[in-house]
Amino acid sequence: MAETVDSLKNAQRQVDMISKYLDVDEGILEKIKVPRREITVNFPAKMDDGTVKIFTGYRVQHNDTRGPFKGGLRYHPEVDMNETTALAMWMTWKTAVVNIPFGGAKGGVKCNPKEMSEGELERLTRRFTWEISPFIGPDVDIPAPDVYTNPRVMAWIMDTYSIIKGRAVTGVVTGKPLELGGSLGRFEATGKGCVIVTAKACQEYGIPLEGARVAIQGSGNVGGIAAYYFDSMGAKVVAISDSKGGIYNEKGLPLKRAMECKTKHDRFIPEEIGDCVAITNQELLALDCDILVLAALGNVLTGENAADVKAKMIVEGANGPTTTEADLILEEKGVIVLPDILANAGGVIVSYFEWVQNLQELLWSEEEIATRLQNILERSFEEVLKISKDKKVSLRMAAYILAVGRVAKAHELRGIYP
Ligand code: NAD
Repeated sequence: MAETVDSLKNAQRQVDMISKYLDVDEGILEKIKVPRREITVNFPAKMDDGTVKIFTGYRVQHNDTRGPFKGGLRYHPEVDMNETTALAMWMTWKTAVVNIPFGGAKGGVKCNPKEMSEGELERLTRRFTWEISPFIGPDVDIPAPDVYTNPRVMAWIMDTYSIIKGRAVTGVVTGKPLELGGSLGRFEATGKGCVIVTAKACQEYGIPLEGARVAIQGSGNVGGIAAYYFDSMGAKVVAISDSKGGIYNEKGLPLKRAMECKTKHDRFIPEEIGDCVAITNQELLALDCDILVLAALGNVLTGENAADVKAKMIVEGANGPTTTEADLILEEKGVIVLPDILANAGGVIVSYFEWVQNLQELLWSEEEIATRLQNILERSFEEVLKISKDKKVSLRMAAYILAVGRVAKAHELRGIYP
């Protein structure tokens, strides 16, 4: 699907592109283009058949100038240092653009969780946690779920870390089960956040959300939840997909039936759902629609297919779904792109609420969380929009100017030790 992309170079190029707008020492800019710490661990885990397998895991701590490192852990066969570093850097910009007191990190283990039993995953998780335990902690680095990790995995991490410390340390990870200090509203936060930011942008750019035709790539935590909120706000979800393909109806999908089918069979079956036809993921990206939500993978819009996009607005639910080549093409076509570091920041914002509640031993209501989330995202969108208008740059460039500027300023204020 995607051309080979060097994610880290892409992330560093994004910083280079906005450096001329910042009045910042060049040395500081060079510093924030590289991670503070890169940790690689090789560790054993026992398999169900009695054999021992060696796994490689990573934790890249990009920047903690504004607060503890923060970012997800991914279990995937393609996890590597290059992409993990780029994702860690994007976390630094994400926490900075919405102005929460965290830095950025990312980690993962190279493994295929789909081929592992629950027992094998638990032993892998516990040993990996032990290996990185000197480098994480509630005021040092706070992991969270990412691709193929979930609240269950976070519970094992929290338990292992707590055993090492000899007391319950709930604040060491976020995205935990509710019973272990997880926050209300965390599950839906990213998809809901995408829709909050889209609604603000629609207002600003004169695209009525009521009746807007929305196509969504991906139907997991981000895409599936975003579909629900778009539908409840009166937009028409005309297409949705998963890794096997998608479904389409120009008048709007029977969303409830579609999601029931997906839950039951783990795929969309047009014959069972009714009132829709099958489409490929490539066809979905090129659909005639108002809003295209990218909520699956990175690097899906590239120099090769960006020209086919017909949507007026793109919402980046996934991290890094648009390459820099694609970005230039979209800008020329006048497509509005709501950048990932803003559009999908809802998850890390509610993770921040979870951490605050854990540290202070508080429990906030769902309503309190929803209001705080909406306020932070709307304020952040307005700040990005103002820069975009003042400097006549895209929303992505504006988001980077704001985020990188905040991190660079924090570096300047702290100074260089010794
Ligand atoms: P998920 O695993 O719940 O869902 C992923 C979806 O993408 C699934 O519907 C899957 O079928 C689909 N998909 C996988 N491969 C595909 C392919 N080749 N073509 C089309 N669709 C494909 O994951 P998620 O939590 O929804 O995350 C989606 C993206 O959003 C990821 O890039 C993730 O890093 C990013 N993200 C997630 C959160 C969060 O809080 N969940 C926060 C920020 C960013």
